[in-house]
Amino acid sequence: MCFEDAQHMKNCDRSERKILRPAIFLDRDGTINVEVDFLSRVSDLALIEGAATAISRLAQAGFLIVVVTNQSGVARGYFDEHTVKSINSALAHMLEQGGARVDAWYYCPHHPEAGYPPYRTECSCRKPATGMVEQACQDLDIDIASSFVIGDSLRDMELAWNCGMGAVLVKTGHGTRTFHGLDQNTAPRIDFVATDITEASEWICRRVENRKNKIPHDSNAQFSKKEAAKVQGEDPDHKTKCHR
Ligand SMILES: [Zn+2]
Repeated sequence: MCFEDAQHMKNCDRSERKILRPAIFLDRDGTINVEVDFLSRVSDLALIEGAATAISRLAQAGFLIVVVTNQSGVARGYFDEHTVKSINSALAHMLEQGGARVDAWYYCPHHPEAGYPPYRTECSCRKPATGMVEQACQDLDIDIASSFVIGDSLRDMELAWNCGMGAVLVKTGHGTRTFHGLDQNTAPRIDFVATDITEASEWICRRVENRKNKIPHDSNAQFSKKEAAKVQGEDPDHKTKCHR
């Protein structure tokens, strides 16, 4: 069953019990923090201006905040998972200083060709694959159909399309290059192109306000526990979760 099919499984336990919340799936490097190729030192970490305020604003609008980041530098041997977690912790701290809290962090340490097993693998979590989103749907009560991805790469936009979420491209990081690489197939599928995360958050919040009294949406769409477990079973060794 593909992700879209799973969204239509409306009778699982959780959707009957819990109120689902929309989420913002945020890319990390180039979206929240200034892009540095294969960021591996906390000392190189710098927030993109306005990022904390933007994230805080999205949280206040009712969104869960989830970071999903490809970190193939692990597979390539540039740094280890401990480094990824350290940088995530430092970034979380910087955001908290600015009044923003992230609900969950996920990373993919894999690459299909680089390095050695177990990190060299065709995993289910490297964006645009949906594994990290599936894991988030297991951990949190997420209304996928009302959720958005904000990111600077085409992989982020493809993740949004693969899951049936809104796609917002930021022009920070690799975003300008991504924007100029769009074609007649990809460009129309992006919901909004923003200068940065601040403009992205403003657009999403405006859109939520405008829709509140107009368009009823399917609040039961989500990835079921059963489906997520099945996908996990296909790649039992993958470690995507990072707890702060
Ligand atoms: Zn992976």
